[in-house]
Amino acid sequence: MLQFLVETCLCEAVRSLENLRGKQTLTALPRANGSGLHQLAKALDYAARQHVAQRRKGALGEPYINHLCEVAALLAETSDQEDADLLSAAVLHDVVEDTDATMEDVRALFGPEVARIVAEVTDDTSLPRSIRKARQIEKAPTLSQQGRMLKIADKTSNLRAIVASPPEDWSDDRKREYVRWAEEVVAGCRGLNHRLEAEFDTAAAEAK
Ligand code: ZN
Repeated sequence: MLQFLVETCLCEAVRSLENLRGKQTLTALPRANGSGLHQLAKALDYAARQHVAQRRKGALGEPYINHLCEVAALLAETSDQEDADLLSAAVLHDVVEDTDATMEDVRALFGPEVARIVAEVTDDTSLPRSIRKARQIEKAPTLSQQGRMLKIADKTSNLRAIVASPPEDWSDDRKREYVRWAEEVVAGCRGLNHRLEAEFDTAAAEAK
């Protein structure tokens, strides 16, 4: 059911991208209530609007929403439980770091639990990149179970992208360095979801 919804909402996200081409609209969606599926649909719509002008760094220049849908789908496909807060947080995990949305926006629209998970995986962008990367390694074992699974899914998607559509200006050394760093972050997140970890391990092996 969740997989169906993600696929359906991906189509809606693409329509949103087409409708909003060039416009960055912060729509005042009502606070999600009712079922988790409603919340997830709203999260997909909100993320598509917020990231509308962004593309992945890779040569294919995929719409950024593809990464967010892939992270949510990885979690949905490898988990036995349906956790709409985790899947919504997966769709929203880069919205504060990479758009003008604030944690307050996320809390007001999607509630404290989704906001808590998003906050856990959001870097402090005021820090230099090297310090942010070191912090991710240090923080990983302290994250909640949901935060740790979201980290693994995010890194898996990024490693798959390095294989399928590497950034044109990345040398082989830079790719290997990214894989090593992702493995260090994920080392602190293991022990919760073996199928998800296997997806990460496969992606890391292919990216090396
Ligand atoms: Zn991400």
